[in-house]
Amino acid sequence: MITEHVSETQKSFDVVVVGGGPAGATAATLLAKAGHRVSLFERQAFPRFHVGESLVPAVNLTLEKLGVRERMDELGFPQKHGVQFYGPSGPSRPFYFSEVADPRMHHTWQVLRSDFDRMLLDTARDAGAHVETDAQVVEVCLAGETATGVRVRRLDESEDRVSARVVLDASGQKGVIPRELSRQQGVPGLQNTAVYAHYTGVRLDPGIDAGSTLIYRLDAKSWIWFIPLPGVVSIGLVTSAREILRFGPNRDEILQSAIDRCPDLKERMREAEISGEVRVARDFSYRAERDGGPGWALIGDALGFIDPVYSTGLLLSVHSAEILAREVSCGLAGQDRHPDLRGRSGEWQVAFDRFLPLVRAFYTEDFRFGELSKNDAHRQGLVDLLTGIVDTDEAIGVTAQIQHMFDEEVAAES
Ligand SMILES: Cc1cc2nc3c(=O)[nH]c(=O)nc-3n(C[C@H](O)[C@H](O)[C@H](O)COP(=O)(O)OP(=O)(O)OC[C@H]3O[C@@H](n4cnc5c(N)ncnc54)[C@H](O)[C@@H]3O)c2cc1C
Repeated sequence: MITEHVSETQKSFDVVVVGGGPAGATAATLLAKAGHRVSLFERQAFPRFHVGESLVPAVNLTLEKLGVRERMDELGFPQKHGVQFYGPSGPSRPFYFSEVADPRMHHTWQVLRSDFDRMLLDTARDAGAHVETDAQVVEVCLAGETATGVRVRRLDESEDRVSARVVLDASGQKGVIPRELSRQQGVPGLQNTAVYAHYTGVRLDPGIDAGSTLIYRLDAKSWIWFIPLPGVVSIGLVTSAREILRFGPNRDEILQSAIDRCPDLKERMREAEISGEVRVARDFSYRAERDGGPGWALIGDALGFIDPVYSTGLLLSVHSAEILAREVSCGLAGQDRHPDLRGRSGEWQVAFDRFLPLVRAFYTEDFRFGELSKNDAHRQGLVDLLTGIVDTDEAIGVTAQIQHMFDEEVAAES
């Protein structure tokens, strides 16, 4: 990917986006399409590896707005038609996205993030954003609590100060906005660790199930994801940070011993071989204390992330990017040089809060998808949530029911 440095005459933009992952690329594309002068700085060279490979169908609506939906099949990403949960007593009935009303969401895709993220970043550049890779934002420049721009450092150690009316922090889990302005607050009960790798030679299910996500629940604290990708399958254990060493002394043995505990998965992987390294991620469930302020806002993982169990990370990321692109556009039309973006992520916060009870319930002893699904409205609510739809009556109803079950369990334990 060839990038050009900002020129002397171009050191002032309407918006600077920090980070070229899905959130940053989405915001940059939408803002550039709306006619704003946008510069995006990405620390790494693309393509690069990233965890988070399974989409939920509600992301399709953003892909359409970006004009890239057609590219998904062209890039060879497996179509994902549903999700199936395996417990110790066997598999659940599959949840198919075709059970939702909107045909645009009847399937989505499993993505190799190296290719997916590069495609989104190219889209931002094609939309007119100035995009630089290998360019790390080392400082957000502040006047009091107002963000006025960023300082960028490149691989050759050259540095630039770039001013902007708005700085969007899309830099992922670590975030670049100083901690004095916004801290990450961990989600209680979700201090988890993931250990994961890609494998070749894994047996898939036939037909439309070949691209489904499988979730193997080992116990109330541990589960394994199974995500079919082009040529490989992504397999990852998620477990509580405290429990991880009961699986083994090092990452390779931890992942293998978790796989060995699932007879169905072990059988699928009889001829499998690992491709690349076993990786680890930790402490990934949190929400930012403040979502924005004068001249700045957080989007994507910088704003918050809930456990990966329902693959909602990319949805929440691109959703926050869309919301903030709209809010920033409005702000830039106003008189303030640095519009105040505090409290503008309300729709994102609602979505986060709808997914949260479902995530927390997954980690309780008695949680059974099968039981909840016996009620038709609850089953529909679950399918809606698994699709990424949070605002139907059924989704709201099942969220309330799960919260109730969760509260009862917590009360019984205390
Ligand atoms: C174990 C695990 C499994 C997951 N599984 C799924 C899944 O199956 N489905 C799903 O939807 N989500 C999943 N996620 C979540 C998903 O990976 C994230 O939600 C998503 O990548 C967030 O996108 P983003 O653009 O906000 O951040 P990122 O994708 O992390 O992008 C941030 C970018 O900012 C760049 N950057 C960082 N600092 C700077 C800086 N100072 N200057 C310039 N650039 C910088 C980084 O290099 C990076 O490219 C998972 C997460 C974890 C931890």
